[in-house]
Amino acid sequence: MTAHRLVAGLRSRDPEGGWSLTVIGDEPHEPYDRVHLSEWFDARDAQALALDRGVWDDPRVTLVAGDAVASLDRTASVVTTRSGRQVHYDRAVLATGSWAWTPRAEGTDLPGLFTYRTLDDVERLAEWVRLRERALGRAVRGVVVGGGVLGLEAAAALQRLGAEATVVEFADRLMSVQLDQGGGEMLRLLIEDLGVTVRTGAGAHRFLPAGDGSVGSVELTDGSALPTDVVVFSVGIRPRDRVAREAGLAIGERGGVVVGEACQTSDPGVWAIGECASVDGVCAGLVAPGNDMADVVVDRFLGGERVHRRADDGTKLKGVGVEAASFGDVNAVSAGALEVSFVDPIHRRFRKLVLSDDATTLLGGVFVGDIELYSALRPLLGRPLGADPAAVIAPDGEGLADTELPDEAVVCSCNNVDAGTVRSAVTERGCRTIGQVKECTTAGTVCGSCVPALTKLLNAELSRAGVTVSDALCEHFAMSRATLYRLVREEGLRTFTEVVAAHGTGRGCAVCRPTVASILSTLRRGHVLEGEQAALQDTNDHVMANLQKNGTYSVIPRMPGGEVRADQLLEFAKVADDFGLYVRVTGGQRLAMFGARLDQLPEIWRRLTAVGFESGHAYGKSLRTVKTCVGRTWCRFGVQDSSAMAVRLELRYRGLRSPHKIKFGVSGCARECAEARGKDVGIIATHKGWNLYVGGNGGAQPAHAQLLAEDLDDETLVRYVDRFLMLYVQEADRLQRTAPWVAERAGGLDELRRVVVEDSLGIADQLEAAMAEHVRDYEDEWGATLADPAKLRKFTPFVNAPEAVDGDLAFVPERGQVRPADEGDAVAYPDPRVARDVALLAARVELEEAR
Ligand SMILES: Cc1cc2nc3c(=O)[nH]c(=O)nc-3n(C[C@H](O)[C@H](O)[C@H](O)COP(=O)(O)OP(=O)(O)OC[C@H]3O[C@@H](n4cnc5c(N)ncnc54)[C@H](O)[C@@H]3O)c2cc1C
Ligand code: SF4
Repeated sequence: MTAHRLVAGLRSRDPEGGWSLTVIGDEPHEPYDRVHLSEWFDARDAQALALDRGVWDDPRVTLVAGDAVASLDRTASVVTTRSGRQVHYDRAVLATGSWAWTPRAEGTDLPGLFTYRTLDDVERLAEWVRLRERALGRAVRGVVVGGGVLGLEAAAALQRLGAEATVVEFADRLMSVQLDQGGGEMLRLLIEDLGVTVRTGAGAHRFLPAGDGSVGSVELTDGSALPTDVVVFSVGIRPRDRVAREAGLAIGERGGVVVGEACQTSDPGVWAIGECASVDGVCAGLVAPGNDMADVVVDRFLGGERVHRRADDGTKLKGVGVEAASFGDVNAVSAGALEVSFVDPIHRRFRKLVLSDDATTLLGGVFVGDIELYSALRPLLGRPLGADPAAVIAPDGEGLADTELPDEAVVCSCNNVDAGTVRSAVTERGCRTIGQVKECTTAGTVCGSCVPALTKLLNAELSRAGVTVSDALCEHFAMSRATLYRLVREEGLRTFTEVVAAHGTGRGCAVCRPTVASILSTLRRGHVLEGEQAALQDTNDHVMANLQKNGTYSVIPRMPGGEVRADQLLEFAKVADDFGLYVRVTGGQRLAMFGARLDQLPEIWRRLTAVGFESGHAYGKSLRTVKTCVGRTWCRFGVQDSSAMAVRLELRYRGLRSPHKIKFGVSGCARECAEARGKDVGIIATHKGWNLYVGGNGGAQPAHAQLLAEDLDDETLVRYVDRFLMLYVQEADRLQRTAPWVAERAGGLDELRRVVVEDSLGIADQLEAAMAEHVRDYEDEWGATLADPAKLRKFTPFVNAPEAVDGDLAFVPERGQVRPADEGDAVAYPDPRVARDVALLAARVELEEAR
C-alpha cells in the first residue's frame, strides 16, 4: 500500500517531472487496499479493493506484479527478481511490508490452517470453508488464534462464510494492545453477543488431525481442546526484511530495516517505508505511519526536508459488527494521569478518557460499543479538552464543547491530514461534498473513522460560506432522514438489514441505527424490543426507562392531562415504598420514581399496569407530555375545557416516535397558565375555540411557538395537529426540534401554514391517514413487554433474584427520601429502603424538635 502511496504522491507533486519508477510486487495482483481486505467477502471481487489505477497508466511508471525481488546489489545498484529480471536503480525504496507470523507448534503444517494477510489468503480460506462444509455436511467449526483487531476481523469473516467461530487469545482480554481492562471486558460481551465464542487467557498449543488428515482439533495451553475444521492465525506480524538483511543493510533488534527520520536506510541510496521499516526500534503495524513515510520519501526525492513523525496509534475496529476504538495513553501510564470512565454493561457501552493530572489535557480515550465520540476527541489528543470530562462521557454525551479544532489538529491520522487542510479544501479548492474532500485531501480514505469529524468541518465551512450543507444522514446513507423515511414507508421495509440493503452501505453507525429504529417505530414496524430493532435503539428506548446518574432507572407512567385517580396514586405510593424509590413531580406534571434497578422494572410496571398506568415514554424521542391548566371545568376564567382537550391529544399522539421529543401545552384562556407557547404544539383557548401555535420549545435555544391558525373547533384543531405532527415526523432531520424545523423550512411559517391549513401540496389526506394508522396501531410498550417472556429476559442481566441487592449501588438519605451516594458521603446504604427508613427517622426527629 505504501508503494502505491509513493507513486501517487510523486505524480501529484511532480506531474511534469522527468523521473521514472519501477514497482516490483511479489503478489500476482496490482497493489490493493489491504486495510479493507475483509470487504472481499462482500463481493468476492478483488477489483473492489483496487487502489487508484491511474498511477499505473502513467508512462513513467512500470508495474511488475507476481515477481518478487530476490536480491539487492548495492554496489552495482541493481535488483534481481526471482524470475531473473534485473532492474538498475538510482534510488531504491523497500516497501516489502510484513508477513503474518504463525507460532511454532505441533501440527501447524496440517491442511486447514491459514493466515490472514493477503488476497490469496482470504480466497483460499473461503474455498476451504466451502469444501469442508460440503465434505462434512454441517457448519464448519473455526478457531481464530489471536484476539487482536485482525483476529476479530477474521472471526467475523468466518461467520460471513457460514462457519462457527471461536477466538483464542493468550492475553486476559481482547484487543489487549488497544484496550484497557474495562474496554476489553466490554468488547468480549459484544463479541459474544454476535455468537462468537471467546477464550481468553489460553493459547493454541497443538493442532491435531481429524480422521482424513485435515486439522480436527486444537489443544489449548490450559489443557482443554476445541474441535475445529479450520484455523486462522492472527498472532502478529513480522517485517519482511530478508532482502535488506542479505544486502547488508542495518536491521533492527526486533527485525525491520533501520531508517532515520528521512526514511533512509544505512545506505543513503536505499530507502525503506511502511511495515518493513524500523523507526526507533519499532515497526509500525498500521498504514498511517507508512503513508507518512511515503510522503517523506516523495518530498526528499523532490529536494524537500520533510521528516517522518511517529503518528499516534489510534485504532478502530472495523467490519466486525461491533464498535471499539482507542487512541493515546489507553492505560493511563503517563505520570499523574487521571482516568474518567463510564460503564454501561446493559447497553454494552464503555467510555474512558485519560487526562493530565490537572484534568485538562486529553491524553487518551477508549470507546467500546459506541464510538461516536472517538472521531471528535481524537484530534484533541494532547490538547485541552475544554469541557468537564465526566459530562463528555455521560450517557447522552452532550457535554463536549463545540469548540473549533485548531488548523494544525490532525483529523485523519491514517493520511496525516490536519483540520487546516480540510478547511482549505473547502474554501480554496471548492470541495462541496465529503467525497470531494476525501478525493482532494485523501482524508477519510483509509479506515474511515474520521469521516464524522470531516463532515463536521465541511459543514461548518460551507455554512460559513453561506452554502447549503449536504443533508446526507451519515456516511452509510447518502440521503436525508426525510428521504429515508419516505422510502422505508413506500417500500414497506421492516428491519435495519432491509433498509441498509436497499438504500445504504456498511453496517450502520451511532447516527443511522437509532434513526432507522425511530423511523421503523414511527411506522409501527414492531415493538421497540422486537428482534433486530432492540439492538438499534438509543440507550433509554432499549429498556424503556431513563438511565440515571448511578446506573438506576426512572419510572414515569403516563398521566394524560396531569390527571390521576386516587387508587392509582395509592398503588404508585405503595410501589415507591416497597422498592425504596425517590418520588417527585416532573416538570411535565407527571409523577416519577427514581432509583429502580433494571431487574426491578418489570415487577414495578406489572403493578402499575394493573391499576391502569401505561408507559409515559419519558425515555423516547416521542410525545412526552401535554401540559394543561384545569380550564373551564374548575377555573372561573376558563373559556374552554383545556383538560379534556389535553387528555384527548395526549391519548391520540402517545407513543408517536419523532425526530426529537415533543411537548404540548393547552391553556384554558389567554392567561396561559399551561405556558403553551413554550411548547412544540401550543393550544390556547379563545371564546370561539382554539388558537394553534407551533414550533415552541427549542431546547438549549428557547423559542416561542408561533400562531398557525385561529379560533378552531375541536375537530379542525385535531386535524391540523395531525397534519403538523406527521409532516414534522416525515420531514425533519435527526434530532431536529420543531423550532429549527419550522424556521429552516423553505418558506418558513407562512409556507407551513399553506401546507397544513390550505393543503397547498394536496398531502393533507395522506398525513391524516398516517396519523390515523398510528392511533389505530398504538399499543402500550410496557404492557406488551410484560406479556412476552422473551422481551422480559432483557431485564435480568446481572441479578436473577428480584430481592437481591446490587452491592455497587449506594443510596444516601436526604429530605425524607433517598438520592445516589456521592464520593465523600459519610454513610451510604446499598439498599435504598434502608436509606429511606433512615431518612424518615431523621425527618421525624427534626419535626419533633421543631415542635
Ligand atoms: C486484514 C487487514 C486489515 C487491516 N486493517 C487496518 C486498519 O484498519 N488500519 C490500519 O492502519 N492498518 C490496517 N492493516 C494494516 C495495513 O494493511 C498495513 O499497515 C499496510 O498495508 C502496510 O503497508 P506496506 O506497504 O508497508 O505493506 P503491504 O501493504 O503489506 O505491502 C507490501 C507488499 O510487498 C510485497 N513484498 C514483500 N516482499 C517482497 C519482495 N521481496 N519482492 C517484491 N514484493 C515483496 C508483499 O507481497 C506486499 O504485497 C490491516 C491489515 C490487514 C491484513
Ligand atoms: S389559563 Fe385560564 S383557564 Fe387555565 S387556569 Fe389559567 S386562568 Fe384558568
